[in-house]
Amino acid sequence: MGVGLSKKLSKIDSALTEAKSLIHSDPDRATTLADWAFKQSQANNHLKGQGDALAIFSNLYVDTNPNASLDFATKASTIFQQIGDKTCEAETLLTIALTYNKSGWTSRAHYMLVRAHELSEQANNPRLSGTLLFNLGANAESREDLASALDYFTCAKVIAEEFNQDKIYWRAVCAEQEMHYRLNDGLFDIKKIKEVFDFGEAVDMEKTRIETEMFLSKVAHDKSDFRLARTRLRRAYSLASTIADGQLKAEIICLLGENRLDDGKHRSARKLLKIALGLSKSLELSSLELTCLKLLSRAFAACGDLANSLELMTKYTEAKDELYAHESKIHFQEMRTVQDLKLLEEESRVLKQTNVELAAVNDRLEATLQEKRTLQKELVRLATIDELTGALNRREAMSFGSEIISRFHTQGRPGVVMIVDIDHFKSINDGFGHSAGDEVLRRFTKSCQKVLRPTDRFGRLGGEEFCILLDRTSLEIALKVAERVMNSIRSCRVADILGDRIITASIGIVEVSRKHQSIEAALQDADLGLYEAKRSGRDKICITGVKKKKAA
Ligand code: GH3
Ligand code: MG
Ligand code: MG
Repeated sequence: MGVGLSKKLSKIDSALTEAKSLIHSDPDRATTLADWAFKQSQANNHLKGQGDALAIFSNLYVDTNPNASLDFATKASTIFQQIGDKTCEAETLLTIALTYNKSGWTSRAHYMLVRAHELSEQANNPRLSGTLLFNLGANAESREDLASALDYFTCAKVIAEEFNQDKIYWRAVCAEQEMHYRLNDGLFDIKKIKEVFDFGEAVDMEKTRIETEMFLSKVAHDKSDFRLARTRLRRAYSLASTIADGQLKAEIICLLGENRLDDGKHRSARKLLKIALGLSKSLELSSLELTCLKLLSRAFAACGDLANSLELMTKYTEAKDELYAHESKIHFQEMRTVQDLKLLEEESRVLKQTNVELAAVNDRLEATLQEKRTLQKELVRLATIDELTGALNRREAMSFGSEIISRFHTQGRPGVVMIVDIDHFKSINDGFGHSAGDEVLRRFTKSCQKVLRPTDRFGRLGGEEFCILLDRTSLEIALKVAERVMNSIRSCRVADILGDRIITASIGIVEVSRKHQSIEAALQDADLGLYEAKRSGRDKICITGVKKKKAA
């Protein structure tokens, strides 16, 4: 090697070293330096320099543009593989795995970490091995494989202790206790956690302290001590702010939302979860996005907004399906394009394991779909049916009524609206008790529903007041329907509750006409008929707008 060339290469290398140290503090300067070093390395056929520059780029873009970051890292790892630099290749694979993890592709991330760990072992780099084992643990944890996670954390702890990696050691100690807690019905060594805590305080290690606070907040949450859990989360949040870790901040806001939700504070839960959802979207944190969607759906359901809850649950399952489908596809592609022949044998072993993982992914997908189907059914039922009687609820009835009104105006299709109100219902409550009244409401509903046609709708407007909505029906036919309903109510079996008292009802009827611009207007008119029926002695049908009172 000529003196000129070796001078040039050492200039490139020092530029790269400087760029690496400036990634966080001065990203613009780091970009300029890495860019220069990359071009110089290309001109001088200096592969290692190219790989290092690409690795720096991938780190620079990791938060702002994950796709670009992934692209740079993949190119860098190919170069490191070519020149046999196992340590650098393993480090790049770690960057790739972290990006995958953020995107929720946890199986892909696991696969990358396994390869990276093997490389670090081959390169005899125990510090890197320790870091990778810790990350393998975190990855297993996010796949809910807690037993493996515990093993990884324990290994990471042992290696980190031997090679004086304080940060990894204490984080692994904390994570290990958390796994014990989750695997053993809440049992863990609080003394160990205190040690971690003291260490974090003394040595100014925010990540360790944040993780401890988050773990202890989970413990408090599980004990329903939401105040304490919240205090801990707030502390974790301010620590995450000092190290400007956007991902952690978003995760903590989500946890705060869950805290408020389980504490019954639905409004503030919704507010927090919406913020966390927005952040997870802008930072492309797919796993967190899923968690937020699921919790938000719960939050809406908790305050009775079932329409929004259903919508969010649908978004959640769609996003989840998409994520898994995408991950499986990429996984297969990668398996097909593995370049290294020597690795092929090893690959087939990993492939077997991957197949098991893919099967698990499929199972999860199937379970999710099933979960989605039952949830949707249940939510639709809850959103449209009156709990007590099984009639349509008011909102659903009004929505069906609106359709009748609009078809009348656009197509001239006839329709009839009736209000049915039980007579002297208050005296049933007063004489036989409220729960007897409830049972009467249920039987009353059944006896009306059984004589209606499949196209008629029976809804509860409130209390003991119901409506019957008849689409494509003339007044003449509607009267026949109303009489059938009256007879069915009179013969409704209530002797076991009310003795020899029978139930009767009064009905107000109106035919939809041009003056009814809304279902509310038509119901108001039907109400006039009902009033007339009550006034003239009850157990009667009265048609609004028709003078003659028709005794049923
Ligand atoms: P009228 O013949 O004039 O309609 O007299 P009424 O007693 O049926 O009417 P009123 O409006 O005076 O009383 C209705 C009662 O219905 C009062 C209320 O306590 C009762 N009620 C409303 N909702 C329910 C319910 O879900 N279950 C029971 N058991 N009673 C209810
Ligand atoms: Mg009544
Ligand atoms: Mg009433």
